[in-house]
Amino acid sequence: MRKPIVVGNWKMNLDHLEATYCVQKLAWLLRDARFDYDSCEVVVLPPFTSIRSVGVLVDADKLKIGYGAQTVSVTTQGAFTGDVSADMLAALGCKYVIVGHSERRKYHPEDDATLVDQVRAILAADMQPILCVGESYDERKKGIELEYAVGQVNDITRDLSEDEASRMLVAYEPVWAIGTGMVATSRTAQDAAHAIRRHFADAFSQAVAERVRILYGGSVTSKNASQLMSEAHDMDGFLVGGASLDPEEFDKIVRLTQ
Ligand code: PGA
Repeated sequence: MRKPIVVGNWKMNLDHLEATYCVQKLAWLLRDARFDYDSCEVVVLPPFTSIRSVGVLVDADKLKIGYGAQTVSVTTQGAFTGDVSADMLAALGCKYVIVGHSERRKYHPEDDATLVDQVRAILAADMQPILCVGESYDERKKGIELEYAVGQVNDITRDLSEDEASRMLVAYEPVWAIGTGMVATSRTAQDAAHAIRRHFADAFSQAVAERVRILYGGSVTSKNASQLMSEAHDMDGFLVGGASLDPEEFDKIVRLTQ
């Protein structure tokens, strides 16, 4: 059985003091008998500068909230000014790292070869990649959204071993839904999640397909999480941007996902 997961992608928000407050508040909100961390994994992805503060708090208070990073360098160490390696993130206790978020693809030179290397670096450091895929409005208009998203998955994962592939998480994030308030319908999310899962069955094995966790991302809030979760059966949770910055809203989304 796949465990549902809700991941907060904080993007370039929350300095280390705000991050500490946000995680503390979230942990406090989730501390009651109606929520069980065994029924849903809760993860936040702070900017690099806040990861250490979040990690110290999680350790000190023995919180069950996981954390990770929003991107990673492909090199391991040396003269790469400004880069942060997978081993450095793992040493801070990171468990997950986003690969190929559409904002990274847009604002940084992250081509497929780079994304493949990032996935390898993350897996080698014993963390799990969250690969973001999803069509823009143009592809949707042409009716090729499923081929497009599955093609992106295939481009990045095709050379992985079965074991490596089964450690992937894939976030289906249609670009037109990110930060726009235009959430995908449950049908759209389900069609994409189903196509992606079937791809893992065809390209690897049924066992891999059953283990890979597939998330939906794009304008998720407490208003739409429940319907998406109950109707999109191939989906295992959410990658939440804006709504994850408000602990009360994020708490609600987590409870609707468990
Ligand atoms: P959003 O962002 O929830 O603010 O739409 C999602 C994401 O970019 O991961």
